[in-house]
Amino acid sequence: MAIYVTQSSMPDLEDYIKEIKPIFESKILTNMGPIYKRFQHQLIEYLKVPYLSLFVNGHMALEMGMQAMGLNIPEGEVITTPFTFVSTTHAISRNGLTPVFCDIKPDDYTMDPDKIEELITDKTVAIMPVHVYGNVCDVERIEQIAKKYNLKVIYDAAHAFGCTYKGIGIGNFGDASMFSFHATKCFHSIEGGAVAFKDSSYRINLHDLKNFGIHGPDDVVSIGGNAKLDEFRAAMGICNLNRIAICIEKRKQVYQRYIERLSGIDGIKLCSLQEDVEPNYAYFPVYFSKEQFGKNRDEVDELLKKNEIYARKYFYPAVNDMTCYKDQYSKYETPIARDVSLNILTLPLYENLELTDVDKICDVILSKK
Ligand SMILES: *Cc1c(COP(=O)(O)O)cnc(C)c1O
Repeated sequence: MAIYVTQSSMPDLEDYIKEIKPIFESKILTNMGPIYKRFQHQLIEYLKVPYLSLFVNGHMALEMGMQAMGLNIPEGEVITTPFTFVSTTHAISRNGLTPVFCDIKPDDYTMDPDKIEELITDKTVAIMPVHVYGNVCDVERIEQIAKKYNLKVIYDAAHAFGCTYKGIGIGNFGDASMFSFHATKCFHSIEGGAVAFKDSSYRINLHDLKNFGIHGPDDVVSIGGNAKLDEFRAAMGICNLNRIAICIEKRKQVYQRYIERLSGIDGIKLCSLQEDVEPNYAYFPVYFSKEQFGKNRDEVDELLKKNEIYARKYFYPAVNDMTCYKDQYSKYETPIARDVSLNILTLPLYENLELTDVDKICDVILSKK
């Protein structure tokens, strides 16, 4: 049977039915109903964050999160990474801001703090780093830089659900963090997302942005859009949150099997676990060097495909090499991001991936062919 890069975690059907049953009685399907409120409350506890606002998906959470922070300043620039899912960059561009690409570190692929300051201009309004693959950014250095230049920091934490750094929930760093609950993420609500934040004044802004700026039946106070999470998705989120510990534990087993099979091999570079970080085992990226390993990333990918194993070139191309951005940017300005995007392959990793399948995947990768 074919193996894909990911497979959505599913709760027991009975648990989901139990959760959605009250909806059939109340007929409250959306508009921040009781299940939404409970989901929000449970997430605040689980993520250990002061405030959190739910959204229909992670992208809208990021886009509107920036607006709630007042970042959509004409001609503003935001320093970000090109080694991410394109949503990060689109959120900046769609707010009328200019993304400025900072290169990444070769070890954990997060934004290189040594390269941020040289990119700051008098138009810079914020830094938007990404905890890519759940690898935690250098949050301390980034905070120092942001303070020194009076910049806001908004993290794309789409990959870092449940991660902690020095025991602190990852959503506490910077001014705000976005989480994605998309079906392919390690925690999901089918579609869904959230912004976690510290400044309580963002709360009302986020509420207005996601619900047309409506304050009561006769009053519309601002020009908001619509990005509300509905009750059915909130119910799925609650069911999945109930079993998140099991889900992460099962991912950890898969992760450890990959480590056993693929570490110490010439030409294969794995991400190491970071000091002081509680990981979520969301992804398994592997960097291939042709000279030492004998096969390059694309050759490994092809070989896997022949065996009905569908890994993913995640992230390729780098954002500054995508059709919609490449005319304004040069991929050569971020050489490490370019190199990593050309040589990295994300292997299948999900809760119900059998260890025998992990062995099969590793056998194919390591085969002499
Ligand atoms: C998934 C993802 C997003 C967008 O989240 P959606 O919930 O799919 O809208 C943004 N950034 C990164 C890094 C992601 O992986």
